[in-house]
Amino acid sequence: MTGASSQNVGPIILLGPPGAGKGTQAKRVSEYYRIPQISTGDILREQGQRGTELGIKAKDIMARGEFVPDELMYGMVADRLRQVDCERGFILDGFPRTPAQAGWLDAFLEHEFFDNVPRSKCLPVVIRIDVDYNLLLRRIAGRRSCPVCARIYNVYLQPPRVADTCDHDGSKLIARDDDREEVIRDRLQRYEVQTRPVAQYYERKARLSAVNGEMPVERVTEEIIRLVENSRREAVGS
Ligand code: AMP
Repeated sequence: MTGASSQNVGPIILLGPPGAGKGTQAKRVSEYYRIPQISTGDILREQGQRGTELGIKAKDIMARGEFVPDELMYGMVADRLRQVDCERGFILDGFPRTPAQAGWLDAFLEHEFFDNVPRSKCLPVVIRIDVDYNLLLRRIAGRRSCPVCARIYNVYLQPPRVADTCDHDGSKLIARDDDREEVIRDRLQRYEVQTRPVAQYYERKARLSAVNGEMPVERVTEEIIRLVENSRREAVGS
């Protein structure tokens, strides 16, 4: 599946609880439209590995499954969105996570992003990926990744050929610090209390769509692309 690589796609925001498949879908949609995937969790983990000031500050907070403070998030996200590769659009995965972050993002896009010709002037398309709670638990508890090539596996749902070993390069698979059982329930609870209202924020602005995240991966991607295309057609028609 390939998409147009010259059209303005604008911002796409993927919402959904941990384990809903935001990262997987963001990557696929990013390849389709050739626009960057911006995962705030990935950026923070990378900063942690590089030992930057931000990474060090965020590391313990992340391991506990808590949210990194907004004043750290805003600078990081603004720096990333100002980069030239975001001009035609971008996919946000993991941001905004609170209504305050959603308000900040709207203001940023309005005052900085859209003002800055030739950047895209499309309003964000916001898509929530819905998955049943028990399936989320299995998806997160079973998640393992390769520290070398970043391929993702699941010990229950998509196991490697040899236990704990990457099919691609033979590295020993690892679990994320915050995918431990005792942290997972807290993260899901935090999603319900702090992030679900973000969907309501966009719903009030009539910008929210939802997809069934329990469908096969390819079907979910097709549905997301269909929603983005519909929204862009409406924007052109209005
Ligand atoms: P994720 O990879 O999206 O599950 O994010 C992993 C962790 O990074 C989260 O549990 C938070 O600690 C931190 N994080 C990522 N995005 C945000 C955000 N928008 N606001 C606050 N903390 C965040």
